[in-house]
Amino acid sequence: MEKRFQITDQMTNNQSTELLFEMSHTGRRCHRLPECDVPEIFNLPEKEAADNPPPLPEVGEIDLIRHFVNLSKRNMSIDTNFYPLGSCTMKYNPKRHERLGALPGMANVHPLQLDASCQGMLQILWEMQNILGEIAGLDAVSLQPAAGAQGELTALLVAAAYFRAKNEQRTKVLIPDSAHGTNPASAAIAGFDTIDIKSNDKGLVDLADLKAKLDERVAVFMITNPNTLGLFDTQIADITRLLHDKGALVYLDGANMNAIVGVTRPGDFGADMMHYNVHKTFTGPHGAGGPGSGPIAVRSFLAPFLPAPLVAKDGDRFCLDYDRPKSIGRVRSFFGNVGILLRGYFYIRTLGPDGLRAMTQNAVLNANYLLARIKSGYEVPHGQRCMHEFVASARALKREKRISAMDIAKRLLDFGYHAPTVYFPLVVPEAIMIEPTETESKETLDAFADTLLRIREEDAEFLHQSPHALSISRPDEIKAAKEPILRWKP
Ligand SMILES: *Cc1c(COP(=O)(O)O)cnc(C)c1O
Repeated sequence: MEKRFQITDQMTNNQSTELLFEMSHTGRRCHRLPECDVPEIFNLPEKEAADNPPPLPEVGEIDLIRHFVNLSKRNMSIDTNFYPLGSCTMKYNPKRHERLGALPGMANVHPLQLDASCQGMLQILWEMQNILGEIAGLDAVSLQPAAGAQGELTALLVAAAYFRAKNEQRTKVLIPDSAHGTNPASAAIAGFDTIDIKSNDKGLVDLADLKAKLDERVAVFMITNPNTLGLFDTQIADITRLLHDKGALVYLDGANMNAIVGVTRPGDFGADMMHYNVHKTFTGPHGAGGPGSGPIAVRSFLAPFLPAPLVAKDGDRFCLDYDRPKSIGRVRSFFGNVGILLRGYFYIRTLGPDGLRAMTQNAVLNANYLLARIKSGYEVPHGQRCMHEFVASARALKREKRISAMDIAKRLLDFGYHAPTVYFPLVVPEAIMIEPTETESKETLDAFADTLLRIREEDAEFLHQSPHALSISRPDEIKAAKEPILRWKP
């Protein structure tokens, strides 16, 4: 623990917060270009030229290098720190995937090449479609969506096209109150009215509330299973039957697939459509909003409406199939975020079916171990056992000691941990959502549990001022998000 402190101090002490612009000295250079020794054949007309050269920073090479290297060292990443950010599945991203993805046949393929000249790439994407269909227990896959949220939107547009083709007027999408905020946002953007379904005292779907709100106007029920509390909804077969009896579709938010891959399949428990977050479950390096890949899988009766093109196999040749008259059209340029799809493909092919099942089992084991370790000090409202993550609550700590979830999250930074997800899901007050993933060792989990238990014993005033070891303590988060200073003013 002491060692963590030292590293953090060292990191912060020698990091200047100067901007490149502030380091600028007129005439300093990183480079010197030779005089032009060929005739100038194009001269910019005088009136097109700027009055003054742009105010670019002028710095020496070593100052420039130090500036950017030191900035890069401020990044907290899965390669530098334990990152138990619930719902985001921040597992280790094997470096082997980077080497494979950089092979010329992978990295240098141009999306406008003719199909005949990139058969290898098309074969990988075709296989990826099939693999994701198999893991989902569903029939057809589109690789196009570039994130989970875009997968949600795409699937809802597919559902809308399906009901339109059947001449059915369905205007509502039902969403449990524990859902990720992207669910209602996607439904609203797709033109549906969104209706909240309550959670019961076990943290699962309140069946009575679902039945009360279910009618022939419902198009889709969006469910996350296991849900954002890390609980598998054991009523899922009843839920999907209720929805199907009313002619509605069931959508599975697949962000939590790390808890069920190789153990159960959404198609088998009644989902009609789902998205994957390849960057979460299948190790695409992600953070700070990207890059992502959110393929969707659907039942065969929805397949005609999927975005075009799909990758198809014609004899022993692979091609892009644009001949899909009922398709909702493109949702992404070219073939989706191929770089992340490739990393997911390498991961899946490396582990194989048994390895993927072991991944899931270890993710669930790690989360349950951590849950058991911290239960003595933290309330976990819905958790005797969990799936791949769990949600603790600082409600009692706040009442008794004035220590909030935010205080704990901020204090963890002092110890070199990325904070867990806090204040989500909304159904748990003072939520602290922890997802360790399968790639962490027992030692890391123990050290983290020890730290969490130690923090709850610390002085509340001290915690309110944390973090103490970083160069910035508590910025105004709303202002930082709403009024970021992106422009340098001389
Ligand atoms: C991450 C996540 C999403 C959204 O996925 P993105 O890839 O970030 O767009 C949706 N639902 C849940 C439960 C998530 O954790």
